[in-house]
Amino acid sequence: MNGSLEIHCPGCQKPSLLVREPVYNGFTRTGEILKCMTCGHTFEDEQSVPFVHRADVDVFTDEDRSEKVEVFSEGEAGRLCRHCSMYVVNPFLQWCAHHKREVQATDSCDQFVAKGEDEGEASLPL
Ligand SMILES: [Zn+2]
Repeated sequence: MNGSLEIHCPGCQKPSLLVREPVYNGFTRTGEILKCMTCGHTFEDEQSVPFVHRADVDVFTDEDRSEKVEVFSEGEAGRLCRHCSMYVVNPFLQWCAHHKREVQATDSCDQFVAKGEDEGEASLPL
């Protein structure tokens, strides 16, 4: 039992609520009728009820998602390759001139050299 009574009714093609009507045989409860509150469409059993599961509902807007992208703290962001003077970018790859290897803009390393005011000469910390 998931407790949810929200359904998407195949009878009226609308979001609706499930109604459980107990069925009695004399004074003995023999079961219950499951039906749509809106149109009275009845369901064979629990398994055939098209419950609406809350988890499937997308509650996040695109705005919420984009905010989660920036997860770096100030300190980490300051050491990223893309802020390093050794970071070279061309149309085909992103390159670390210090390690002579391909890097990602979001990589970081211990040899980070902050990009100077003049983007030209960078002194290697050897
Ligand atoms: Zn219905």
